[in-house]
Amino acid sequence: MSDGPVYGFDTLQVHAGSRPDPATGARQTPIYQTTAYVFRDADHAAALFNLQEVGFIYSRLTNPTVAVLQERIATLEGGVGAVCCSSGHAAQIMALFPLMGPGLNIVASTRLYGGTVTQFTQTIRRFGWKATFVDTDDLDAVRGAIDENTRAIFCESIANPGGYITDLDAMARIADDAGIPLIVDNTSATPYLCRPIEQGATIVVHSTTKYLTGNGTVTGGAIVDSGKFDWSASDKFPSLSTPEPAYHGLKFHETFGPLAFTFHGIAIGLRDLGMTMNPQGAHYTLLGIETLSLRMQRHVENAIKVASWLERDPRVEYVTYAGLPSSPYHDRVARVCPHGAGAIFTFAVNGGYEACVKLVNAVNLFSHVANLGDARSLIIHSASTTHRQLTPEQQTAAGAAPNVVRLSIGIEDADDLIADLDQALAAATA
Ligand SMILES: *Cc1c(COP(=O)(O)O)cnc(C)c1O
Repeated sequence: MSDGPVYGFDTLQVHAGSRPDPATGARQTPIYQTTAYVFRDADHAAALFNLQEVGFIYSRLTNPTVAVLQERIATLEGGVGAVCCSSGHAAQIMALFPLMGPGLNIVASTRLYGGTVTQFTQTIRRFGWKATFVDTDDLDAVRGAIDENTRAIFCESIANPGGYITDLDAMARIADDAGIPLIVDNTSATPYLCRPIEQGATIVVHSTTKYLTGNGTVTGGAIVDSGKFDWSASDKFPSLSTPEPAYHGLKFHETFGPLAFTFHGIAIGLRDLGMTMNPQGAHYTLLGIETLSLRMQRHVENAIKVASWLERDPRVEYVTYAGLPSSPYHDRVARVCPHGAGAIFTFAVNGGYEACVKLVNAVNLFSHVANLGDARSLIIHSASTTHRQLTPEQQTAAGAAPNVVRLSIGIEDADDLIADLDQALAAATA
């Protein structure tokens, strides 16, 4: 769909990347449930293996159903290409893999999804990689944390759990000055609310598990490349700029230009790390994406109603939603996520830890689960679950103090959600 009329977001979320099936005319993208693809002849096979021709070899690398999803997500984000993988966490490792090596580091925001904090503080150390965590509101601290071994800045557009909004433009300028890419996790915002590439991001990562699929059915991830970074401008990114021994000395950046990062992600990342998305999973996510903007509009509308109601309630100490005029981040909404501040936020309950435990036990419509971005409304008390291993001081620093509950507001009737919280708060604070 690259030639022809310029379509709007609502059109692209339904159509980008897909065309009627050439063999059958099937209008919906078929699930190509196959592992391998027959080569036309030996020359065709050789050309595919040499990366001289683009095509399908084996579904660990590429699959036609997954390819449609990749093109759709890349289009919605305004990138040149995307690689889908088995989960959001896989996407993060896959995004860092071409940039990193033993002894190298990233500078990461302190405000991140809990699982990402664990991945970055613990697991990546086994590869010899390191993350330095900084408050992204302190621009001098971000600049100061970058050294000659830093290969990326990593942040979330709308950050977990408090719905904090990152000044992406400021992050992009710091990354540009340092000659390193800015990687933005856009899971909580989705490209409908926020388009990080337009604000200077180099790479966008997603957990497609959340809003892109939108119904809590499958795990998946995606990496989108803006195509704008010059990987050959310094000697910092040899995987992309110098000869690759596993492809007869091919240089990814020289050969594939703006698609270097995407091709590397498939030809090296998926080939050797194997964090592949399966075609069934891609199918569910394609179905979900068709209604992304409609769902996000309702998620945001409901979040504003629920957050405003909570803020006025005497049983509630504070609400962190950036969509509320009282939020210190309210000014950033129009600039960073013009279609709304998302639908994930926290609130503090008078009565502390015990009241929060009673609250999550008393809800009926909200589901007490470790997930977000579902059509259903979700609730979790981080201090007794995801942040259980931390000290109360660490919990508070992470925005998950003992008296704080996180909500992911769904697309149900807002009045029903408010009534459920009302009766649960009554039970919790009785
Ligand atoms: C869920 C989530 C992840 C991890 O994604 P998985 O699909 O669960 O691996 C990463 N970042 C954010 C913001 C998330 O919400």
